[in-house]
Amino acid sequence: MTGYVGRFAPSPTGPLHAGSLVAALASWLDARAQGGIWLVRIEDVDTPRCVPGASETILQQLAACGLRPDAEPLYQSRRGALYQAALDQLAAAGLAYPCACSRKDIEQARTALGLARVRHGELVYPGTCRQGLRGRPARAWRLLTEDFKPKQADVQAGWSLDATNSIANGTLAWHDRRLGPQHQNVAAEVGDFVLHRADGLWAYQLAVVVDDGAQGITHIVRGEDLADNTPRQILLQRHLGLPTPHYLHTPLVRGADGEKLSKQNGAEALDTSAPQAALNAAARVLGLAPHEGGRADALAAWVAQWRHFYNQGRD
Ligand code: GLU
Repeated sequence: MTGYVGRFAPSPTGPLHAGSLVAALASWLDARAQGGIWLVRIEDVDTPRCVPGASETILQQLAACGLRPDAEPLYQSRRGALYQAALDQLAAAGLAYPCACSRKDIEQARTALGLARVRHGELVYPGTCRQGLRGRPARAWRLLTEDFKPKQADVQAGWSLDATNSIANGTLAWHDRRLGPQHQNVAAEVGDFVLHRADGLWAYQLAVVVDDGAQGITHIVRGEDLADNTPRQILLQRHLGLPTPHYLHTPLVRGADGEKLSKQNGAEALDTSAPQAALNAAARVLGLAPHEGGRADALAAWVAQWRHFYNQGRD
């Protein structure tokens, strides 16, 4: 046992498709290659987007592919109390604040401040409610991102001295095992992001960080579309006193429109009557050689290849 704990964390918005199998297979291979534990967490916090029965389908599809979790799956919809406790902790530390702004308010405030309405297609919050709600009702809760400085305790814990996860001048640097060195200034590029949504739902960023911490996840392997969420999650980990896992973001499968494969651009549910074909397609995306033998032999061969490609060096 290596102390490695990995996970696959699907949102049950539909069945697994060719794209999501890549992340599932990669996270499973990484855990097996390092003699670790592999968990499945059903991320069903965004209830309006969840499809009834999808989580059962996903678990069946994984099983058909030979990817079985080492413990019972965890469901985020049952964990609201933990997310509330984390939000309370952030609020008590002055790091989270209530926000009364609608999308329209945010657009108008940005215009009034002479800022573009959006930045890189995102509506970066200009911090209107940092000074208080001025009598308006709270809608959401946000993280205060401005001027994040490592606290003395963090410095002592090696945080600001760790070359792979450092913050200098507000820019957070981190290392991805496949993409290499990455950096982002969360305050400037993302702004004070939402932790608890105006519709009363928990935001992905908070739920994922709380659960990765609670489950003792040491290694996160997931699709590259999530890479730019990582600095937000590392910030939250620091604020909540949680360790930062190792990260590896996998290549995406693209739809006919060049975007990440999703239901919207024609992803079909994985055909688990032919799991070997589905697994071979996912393996090819990961740079592994397709295997003509049975499922168990294929998985064993890929674990060995994975070890060779991804597990050399520091991780
Ligand atoms: N639930 C997220 C998704 O399906 C993935 C979360 C994660 O792996 O961090 O896109």
